[in-house]
Amino acid sequence: MKEKGNTFRLFWIRAHVGVEGNERADALAKEAARTKKTAPNYDKCPLSFIKHSIRKNTLEIWNKRYQNGETAALTKLFFPDVYSAFGVVRRTRLTPIHVQVLTGHGGFGHYLKRFKCKDDSVCDCDPANEGSVLHLLLDCPKYCKDRYELERKTDMKVQKETLDVLITNRNCQTAFLEFSTKVAKAAINRNKTKLL
Ligand SMILES: [Zn+2]
Repeated sequence: MKEKGNTFRLFWIRAHVGVEGNERADALAKEAARTKKTAPNYDKCPLSFIKHSIRKNTLEIWNKRYQNGETAALTKLFFPDVYSAFGVVRRTRLTPIHVQVLTGHGGFGHYLKRFKCKDDSVCDCDPANEGSVLHLLLDCPKYCKDRYELERKTDMKVQKETLDVLITNRNCQTAFLEFSTKVAKAAINRNKTKLL
């Protein structure tokens, strides 16, 4: 530009203040970004490698926070670490009911009582039993038959120690999610009626 006899100066200006030239440059840059589909001009390593590194790093940070945190006791039975949780979440279509089961945050007596939405936390099978997700999945006598069916289908005992396998193992997962949905839906609906 100098060779052509132009003089110019560079200076900083605040964005989006209506300076005509700046607005024009901004519009052209946006237009180019939107319409020019060019391959990234960075070739020191493949883009997939960068994505992989970012994901690995993020999962490490998330996992540290998850394992050191004192919350999510129930979720940790299903997913002892973030890697197994991430594997399930990215592959499986989880419904809102599934999420209620996996977190315990939902229409269960135990949870509703905790947040003062219900006077008691018991399961309606027996006032001695607490209406928690663990009770419903592992012990509630109302679902003996379904539990037995699940054990037969998966060849796994349904107990606290096997919940992580039931949710992460692809041979067990569908049957386990079906069983969980049935059990949770019934409890949530009963509590809904009681709340009304
Ligand atoms: Zn029960």
